[in-house]
Amino acid sequence: MAKKFQNYINGKWVDAKSGRTFENRNPANWDELVGTFPLSSKEDVEEAVKAARKAFDTWRLVPAPRRGDIMRKVGDLLTSRKEEVAQQMTREMGKVLLETRGDVQEGIDTAYYASSEGRRLFGHTVPSELPSKFNMAIRVPIGVAAIITPWNFPMAIPTWKIFPALLCGNTVVFKPASDTPATATTLVEILLEAGIPPGVINIVHGGGTEVGIALVEHPEVDLVSFTGSTSVGKKISEIASRSLKRVSLELGGKNAQIVMDDADFDLALEGVLWGAFGTTGQRCTATSRLIIHESVYDKFTSMVVSATKKLRLGDGLKSGSDVGPCVNEKQRQIVDEYVKIGQAEGAKLLAGGKDATGDGLSKGWFYEPTVLGDVTRTMRVAREEIFGPVLSVIKAKSFEEAIDICNDTTYGLSSSIYTQDINNAYRAIRDIEAGITYINSPTIGAEAHMPFGGVKETGNGHREGGWTVYDFFTEWKTVYVDYSGTLQRAQIDSVDR
Ligand code: NAD
Repeated sequence: MAKKFQNYINGKWVDAKSGRTFENRNPANWDELVGTFPLSSKEDVEEAVKAARKAFDTWRLVPAPRRGDIMRKVGDLLTSRKEEVAQQMTREMGKVLLETRGDVQEGIDTAYYASSEGRRLFGHTVPSELPSKFNMAIRVPIGVAAIITPWNFPMAIPTWKIFPALLCGNTVVFKPASDTPATATTLVEILLEAGIPPGVINIVHGGGTEVGIALVEHPEVDLVSFTGSTSVGKKISEIASRSLKRVSLELGGKNAQIVMDDADFDLALEGVLWGAFGTTGQRCTATSRLIIHESVYDKFTSMVVSATKKLRLGDGLKSGSDVGPCVNEKQRQIVDEYVKIGQAEGAKLLAGGKDATGDGLSKGWFYEPTVLGDVTRTMRVAREEIFGPVLSVIKAKSFEEAIDICNDTTYGLSSSIYTQDINNAYRAIRDIEAGITYINSPTIGAEAHMPFGGVKETGNGHREGGWTVYDFFTEWKTVYVDYSGTLQRAQIDSVDR
């Protein structure tokens, strides 16, 4: 019988107050039930926020290096359970084991980084303009953090948010995507085993419009860290702005790989296959557009098409599978609709283009890796995020036009250029409008200790990863210590008249 999972609120594993549940099934085999989970509502959120608020009183006083020690244990536990967690993740969201192992490793790297940050969390000391006076700016925790995450990186993305939030002394209410609640539950179990006290971490399963919204609206939630679609991100931003909550939004992408006429084509080919079809194209950083210099358009397009046709679709748990299923039925339908829209707009179907139903695929949400050629920049398949295994190929007359097409999008997350010309590589770094630019490597491949995020409608200017996320999860407090024993007036007594 499939496992029954629960929420974790105020130090206890509990059902949703309503008693309602939802199912989570394996997208590679919908007969396999991963588990049932609480379908929570506002009442459950209420309890979780109350617990997190209370726990903040004590957690904020735990020295940051001690919180860092717990993070080190989290890293150790994740390491020892890496294979088990990777298998669980593949079972619930479909990407191949090679990738789910990488997803867990990103969590491990993030834990050790957070652990080391416990002994830094640097502030500033700055000279005062007055004698016998000491000035400093220090970081302080903010309060209760709502963490709302998508399903495509079920371990990495929650750890990017939860580990720094906790390390900085905030308490957390975590609402994971309902396609990946099992991996999220494992993460909470690991945090508890490592020593996170009751109330400091809480998990509430359920839908975005019930649990997610209730968290964003809650007056006792101080900050919201959200990763997901741009449309939901905009709604969250509007609601949160009413109470001036701090909000970090990591949203959609329409990332391009540019291939110039002087590129190393074999390398560029490997890059585009990995970028476009890794995670079945369901990455915020997925290569969704391939922009090729016109003089090598036919040659490189045909290389891409023949390699795409050789990719092996299959259950991610089985060795030999290159590409797993779409995460669910709805996602596969969206992908198919876009392929039809593209063709109706004049794009040429060069590979794939339909549900895959061959051997071992008939009970999963598999879609053939798809290449659309002769795409122009105005087509919807060149502008809208598809979030599936579809690559739109666009021709560019020159380097300048390639950059212009690359920038002709409302999104701005990742980007890539393959060229051997060092001047063009640096021009691309200067001129591409994106949070991330790769030179001679694909649009995917973020490292945990580097800032991660995008420009334009990909976000609201915050960054995850590395040192930058610690700015989001702390407030600056400016402190003046006057040890002169007299009243000293800034801007008045410090100026000779
Ligand atoms: P989604 O926006 O549908 O859902 C994300 C999370 O928000 C889920 O937990 C969901 O339950 C919750 N949610 C949904 N509606 C809500 C609402 N009205 N209020 C509050 N919460 C709500 O996105 P998804 O389908 O889970 O993920 C795919 C999207 O995420 C893509 O657009 C992708 O580009 C984006 N993404 C971005 C990044 C990044 O770092 N920029 C990383 C991964 C995924």
